[in-house]
Amino acid sequence: MPDRTETESRKLLGRLREALASDNEGQARLDEVVKLIADSMETEVCSIYLFRDPETLELCATQGLQAEAVHQTRMRLGEGLVGLTARTRTVVNTADAPAAKGFRYMPETGEERYSSFCGIPIQRLGDALGVLVVQSKAARQFTPDEVYALEIVAMVIAEMTELGAFVGEGAALSAHHQQPVLFRGSVAQEGVSEGQVFLHEPRVVVTNPISDDPDTELARLRDAVETLRSSVDSMLSGARSVDADQIQVLEAYRMFANSSSWIKRMQADVANGLSAEAAVEKEQSLARSRLSKSADPYLRERLHDLDDLSNRLLRILTGQGAAARADMPDNPILVARNIGPGELLEYGKRLKGIVLEEGSVGSHATIVARAWAIPLVINAKGITREALNGDTILIDGEQGIAHLRPDDTVHAAFQDKIAMQTRAQERYASIRDQPAQAKCGTVISLQMNAGLMADLPSLHGSGAEGVGLFRTELQFLIRNQMPRRGELSALYSRVLTAADGKRVAFRTLDIGSDKVLPYMKPNDEPNPAMGWRAIRVGLDKPGVLRMQLQALLRAANGGPLTVMFPFITQINEFRAAKAEMGKAIDRETKLGHALPSKLEIGAMLETPSLAFAPDAFFEEVDFISIGGNDLKQFFFAADRENERVRKRYDTLDISFLSFLEQVIARCNATGTPLSFCGEDAGRPVEALCFAALGLRTLSMCPASVGPVKHLLRRVDLNEVKTVMDDAIAKGDQSVRRAVADWLVYQV
Ligand code: PEP
Ligand code: MG
Repeated sequence: MPDRTETESRKLLGRLREALASDNEGQARLDEVVKLIADSMETEVCSIYLFRDPETLELCATQGLQAEAVHQTRMRLGEGLVGLTARTRTVVNTADAPAAKGFRYMPETGEERYSSFCGIPIQRLGDALGVLVVQSKAARQFTPDEVYALEIVAMVIAEMTELGAFVGEGAALSAHHQQPVLFRGSVAQEGVSEGQVFLHEPRVVVTNPISDDPDTELARLRDAVETLRSSVDSMLSGARSVDADQIQVLEAYRMFANSSSWIKRMQADVANGLSAEAAVEKEQSLARSRLSKSADPYLRERLHDLDDLSNRLLRILTGQGAAARADMPDNPILVARNIGPGELLEYGKRLKGIVLEEGSVGSHATIVARAWAIPLVINAKGITREALNGDTILIDGEQGIAHLRPDDTVHAAFQDKIAMQTRAQERYASIRDQPAQAKCGTVISLQMNAGLMADLPSLHGSGAEGVGLFRTELQFLIRNQMPRRGELSALYSRVLTAADGKRVAFRTLDIGSDKVLPYMKPNDEPNPAMGWRAIRVGLDKPGVLRMQLQALLRAANGGPLTVMFPFITQINEFRAAKAEMGKAIDRETKLGHALPSKLEIGAMLETPSLAFAPDAFFEEVDFISIGGNDLKQFFFAADRENERVRKRYDTLDISFLSFLEQVIARCNATGTPLSFCGEDAGRPVEALCFAALGLRTLSMCPASVGPVKHLLRRVDLNEVKTVMDDAIAKGDQSVRRAVADWLVYQV
């Protein structure tokens, strides 16, 4: 970059800093900014357009266009050259604007007189905030150096907009992060709760985007890069003993940390007047906007690395670390883009609710939230951008909405919902010790799903008769190294003691798919849900399975033991898994350890194929538990984690119900005990229909036991079956509507 431009853009930034430090507020400040940019760039016009809402841009300040157009002229995203700049998030630079594709004339602005146009997106960390425009009468193509200077200015404007520097007298701009905002997402776990935002990844705030001392800033940047490099080096040496794949990832990461072009670009920005933080953020914004446009998996991976490294560098420079769990407010509501089950478990049960930008109903993080019975809203787009740590937030898991910084009216209405929830809880508690007996006399055994020691108290609190599914992988997920046999058997033994004689069905490890252990080699599979997971891993690499079976046998300590194998698709897999149990028993016998007084070995039916297994399977297995979460995804070929396709197919679809009926009939024929332990068992209407089809054991998250029992006790299952049959005879695709309509008059 030529020296002349360096000084020009430094000068411009210096003037901008003065303008921002002046006593002016809001609109006056913004007006001053456009004036000085026009002056410095020697253009007749400089305007700033900011987003009013995600689809509309508003002219917020101008030097050169008609003053009356300010806060009047609006355009949709993509409309005209301004809208085009915003939509494509790229610079639009033309010497002949009226002839350019997409040009749209706004008569109220008087812009027809201007020939050249240069629009620069104003964006911060990949979020589009607006557009900075310069125009001039002379047909002039702005040089790369001029565009660069404008980009630097746009970056500072973005920072200042974020900080609320243009909010105030006459600005007609709403302050960021102060207004109430409603987020409409989707329901993942019901319940309502009020609390304070706790961001999983708090944003770094840069308060000093411009510097007047490039030498000091360059030294700060150099030191921070050094610290970053040595932290990546030590991550790498820590990983040496772990595994080769992780090392490969970290090596690529280190290569970026040492990338001279990345560092040179930041140094040039600092030399041009940005602070070290702002220079890093500019690079990060660039990486994010490229990320949003690129579909190439390799490039995306690298851009993710770059984004992550920038984050680390920013935290080093600003001293703003990752949020410490210890700083969680009293009623923390976790707000995150997305979260894995392991990370979520680290927060523990203190959370009062969770709001995710992404997430899905079928994910294991959702299952953890359900086990904790805390409301979870997913798909709340944009919330991580808006929410600040400590903001008041109300989440309504019944409707899938979150109110951020609610006003008084919303707050008051919410209190009524919370009171209703409390009353419902009291109702469920009053029937806790009653059986789940329908009016026709049929009794359904309601069991609970668990996975952590901390879940066990719910066994008594919920009124569940036992643990129908104990997901053992959660114990593996919360550790950073493989647990030892002794630890596991101590844990299983504590679970059995806490269950106090109630049956606990331990499911052996179901690792793979979205449950990735931090200390196990990640498997790069194109389709992990259908890949090398669960019992497939257990049989191919039996070390961990054997260790787990032995730990379970020891934990039983001569008492009864129930074990089930996940993801069995064929009789042979069941036989091979059972043979492993046989070997474990032989070992225990040789060692002189007590064997279980009664041993039940079951299989989870999670793929359609198992329903068509030979009769021998149904005879050999001690019980079958339908894992509806997986079964449904394979039955409909609809990824349980992909909200778009998951919702297309109803669990009460007659094809799925008729499939379940066949499984029930086969189990009845061989007298094989059958239960259903997917999440659907905990949804009252689904539970009712399953019971009407003939299922007699349902296992669900503890919070669902009350609502399911409450409904079951109020209906006659024969009548439910008739309603379902009538709907089928009528040709309905799903029985949901018919059952729901009928229920209105029953309860
Ligand atoms: C299921 O698939 O329904 C199940 C209970 O197992 P998981 O959700 O742990 O895969
Ligand atoms: Mg499953």
